[in-house]
Amino acid sequence: MISYEITDAPTPFDDEDADVIVRTCDGPAPDDDDEQRDGLPIVRVEEQSSVFGALLRFCYPQVDDPPIGALDEIVGILRAALKYDLDVIARRMKQLLLQPKFLESDPVRIYAIACHLKLREHAEFAARYSLRTPILEHPSKALEMISGLEYHRLLVYHKQCGELASSVVANLDLLPRSSYVWYKCRHSTCPSVPSMHSGNLSLTVSSPRKWWVDYLVRLDTELLQRPCGDTALDSSIRKGFLSVAAKCPTCSLVAAQDLAHFCKVLAFTIDNEIIDVSRRVCWLFGLTDISQNAYIELPF
Ligand SMILES: [Zn+2]
Repeated sequence: MISYEITDAPTPFDDEDADVIVRTCDGPAPDDDDEQRDGLPIVRVEEQSSVFGALLRFCYPQVDDPPIGALDEIVGILRAALKYDLDVIARRMKQLLLQPKFLESDPVRIYAIACHLKLREHAEFAARYSLRTPILEHPSKALEMISGLEYHRLLVYHKQCGELASSVVANLDLLPRSSYVWYKCRHSTCPSVPSMHSGNLSLTVSSPRKWWVDYLVRLDTELLQRPCGDTALDSSIRKGFLSVAAKCPTCSLVAAQDLAHFCKVLAFTIDNEIIDVSRRVCWLFGLTDISQNAYIELPF
C-alpha cells in the first residue's frame, strides 16, 4: 500500500506565525487528514504542491518567480490562476502557452488546451497555426481533452481554408499579372499545356509551360493538406519541377527566380484570403451571431 507523507513547504512558506495552513493534493488524502494542525485550520486545495507553490511564488513579493518551461507546468498554473481569478498570472501563462515552440510541435494540442480552458482567442490562434500541419496525419493525444464537436469545428475550418487556398491556385486572376518565364517561353523542347486546359487557368494563361502547371497541381494537393502561405513558400515542393525547367534553354535561365517570386505573391494572397475566412468563421468556437462584431484579429 502506498503511503504519503505530509511535508512542510519550503521557506518562506513555512512561517511559524502563520494563521492558516494550506494543504495541497499530491496524492490520496492520508488517514490522519485532520481539520487542524497545531491549532491552525487546514485549507485543502485541489492543486499539487508544484502548481500551488508556483502561484505563491508569483504572488509573494520577496521571492523570485518560479522558472516555468514545460507545457504541463504552464497549463497547470494557468488552470489554477483562472480558477482563483489571478489575472496577472493567467495573462503570463497565456502568453507562454502560445510560444512558437509549442505551436510548431503540436498546434492541435494547444488548440485542445485552449478549448478545454475556454480561451476562445487562443483556440483560434492555435487553429490558425494548425493550418501549417496536415492534422489528420498527426493525431494529438490532447484531443482527449475536448469534445467531438470542438474537433469537428477544427476540421471544418481546415477544410474551408484548404478549399480557399486551392481556389487561389485555380483562379490566378487574384494575382497581379506578370511576365514570368513559363508564360513567355516558346522553346520547341519545352512542353506546354494547351490554352484550353481545364479550369480557370485557361482563362488567364495561354499555353503555359507544362512544368509550371504540374507544379501548380502538386501545390494544390499540398495546400489542401496545409492551407497557408508557408506551403506556397516551401522550396522543397518546387525542387523537382525546377529540375524539369532546367532542361529548357529558355526556362533554365530564370525559372528559379521567377517561381520564387510567384510563390511569394501567391503566399501573400493565400494568407490574406485565409485571414478573411478566419473572420467569417467566428462561429467556429461557439459564436452563432456573426453580427456581434466579435471577430478576432490574429497577429500572424
Ligand atoms: Zn521553357
